[in-house]
Amino acid sequence: MTPSGLPNEFELIARLFAPLAKDAPEALGLLDDAACLAVPAGAELVITKDAIVAGVHFLPDDPPESIAKKLLRVNLSDLAAKGAVPAYYLLAAILPKTVTLSWLDAFAAALGDDQKTFGVSLIGGDTTATEGPLTLSLTALGFVPRGAMLRRDGARPGDTVFVTGTIGDAVLGLEVSKGGLTGLSPAHREALRARYRVPEPRVSFGAALRGLAHAAIDVSDGLVADLAHILEVSKVGAHLDLARVPLSDAGRAALAQGATMERLVTGGDDYEILFTAPPLAATPLRTVAKGLAVTEIGTIVAGSGLTATDASGSPVSLAKTGFRHF
Ligand code: ADP
Ligand code: MG
Repeated sequence: MTPSGLPNEFELIARLFAPLAKDAPEALGLLDDAACLAVPAGAELVITKDAIVAGVHFLPDDPPESIAKKLLRVNLSDLAAKGAVPAYYLLAAILPKTVTLSWLDAFAAALGDDQKTFGVSLIGGDTTATEGPLTLSLTALGFVPRGAMLRRDGARPGDTVFVTGTIGDAVLGLEVSKGGLTGLSPAHREALRARYRVPEPRVSFGAALRGLAHAAIDVSDGLVADLAHILEVSKVGAHLDLARVPLSDAGRAALAQGATMERLVTGGDDYEILFTAPPLAATPLRTVAKGLAVTEIGTIVAGSGLTATDASGSPVSLAKTGFRHF
């Protein structure tokens, strides 16, 4: 034991992380300097990293289980939006000395649960102490057939803009977590908070989008900001029909109580897939979606920029951009 009351980092790795690597011989039991993996013939490796920091991406008193799942899932969401099948991940755990062993055990156990859900294995990482806030950085690796990764830059005029699932729940869930939206029913409040804490990456749908979508992105900064990312790199414009943006029952209840549509489409953390595809793709898309909602919310046009209209057809200006750290 160290003065912090925690085992040293090698004991921590053996206790917490080696069990998460046991099904991946590539990880060499987390006993070597590095992992070594083969890329299957005809495949390409797709890699992404997202870090989360206490007080920025999660509330310091959020449960360790939801922090672990959010950390893994936000990365799997990036792979899903690229059409990649997730396989491995690496984890940097930068721990304040105030963290307890029981917190870490619960964190690792939740990662283990999600590994089974999504078919991924831990293959490496780093473990250090910090005087600062709990910081967790995860790198996820997945595979696509060569040349098949979905990109942001493929949107074409005439494409339909689609989005999976529902939009706005997470930003409302954050408000609930901070003690807001008290007028909603307990069931709606809990549903929203769950969407903020533990996103549902659209992993199997993402892989099914290969060959159907022209451009794709996962919604992390907010629907409007993420659509703008596609428009910018694809060098096109879009029209967004706000009345068609899919909302959950809880989201609709919040709207009825004064939450604004602008807030729902500019808040982040949805982790849905926003993509463009030819209008004729709508039918095959619904087949591969296997019950996941896929909604047409707009159209790609020549030019640049985003226009939006509300249910009455009146133009709406969406001045607010998505979440920015700086
Ligand atoms: P080195 O000093 O050679 O960089 P480390 O002591 O940092 O090695 O790590 C030893 C092994 O444990 C490596 O295989 C590394 O990938 C793994 N490891 C360290 N921390 C983690 C972690 N948080 N999650 C997964 N693997 C880890
Ligand atoms: Mg090393």
